[in-house]
Amino acid sequence: MVFAVLMLVLGAEPTFCEERPSKGTPASVGRPAKGRVEGAVRLTETTAVRVLPKRHRARCLSWATPRLIAALERAGREVQKAVPDSPALGVGNLGRARGGSLAPYSHSHQAGRDGDLAFYALDAQGPVALEDLERFDGALKSEDGKLKFDVARNWALVAALVSDEAIELKWIFVSSALKDALLAQGRKSRSSPKVLAAAERLLHQPSDAPPHDDHFHVRIRCTQAEREGCGD
Ligand SMILES: [Zn+2]
Repeated sequence: MVFAVLMLVLGAEPTFCEERPSKGTPASVGRPAKGRVEGAVRLTETTAVRVLPKRHRARCLSWATPRLIAALERAGREVQKAVPDSPALGVGNLGRARGGSLAPYSHSHQAGRDGDLAFYALDAQGPVALEDLERFDGALKSEDGKLKFDVARNWALVAALVSDEAIELKWIFVSSALKDALLAQGRKSRSSPKVLAAAERLLHQPSDAPPHDDHFHVRIRCTQAEREGCGD
């Protein structure tokens, strides 16, 4: 922690690469803003998921409970099944090997149940695998105007996450403007009423945090087995 603060003062981004997970039964302990993780696993990059290379890969914040890791891999594959030629799902910060504070990056992400996901995006040629998080406005354009929010693939991602019965989502934080665009896409593509209702309930612009116009922040609930030491 002292090291992290020092790095920040020096202008470098803190990294957590020396950390290793605890052994034992995987469990989320505590709450997203004050918690830790037992038996965390690191995201393995595949054709379906990758850690954003520009800033996030160097941080070594790719740890989470195994069920969140597995759900991200499944969601990346589902998008590729639903929409041909989809790039890998871009993953930003998950958490530390044993959980705990992610300062200066985030208040939450401490208990292995949070993840930041890049949006799928299009340029003039087609789908692009983003190197970093990218902000999109209500007109679905990036700040430099060169990229468009890929509403079909981002909806496929939301549909995959809310339909995944191995996890129970608590929230998918995203800006209100992007939520509206996603739900419109869901109706247009005739998604099931169940999926639409779940997306309507779970997509949410937080009132006490940035508007999330540059990523989805996914949070899953504790399992029944974790319930005692784990708080949603
Ligand atoms: Zn986040």
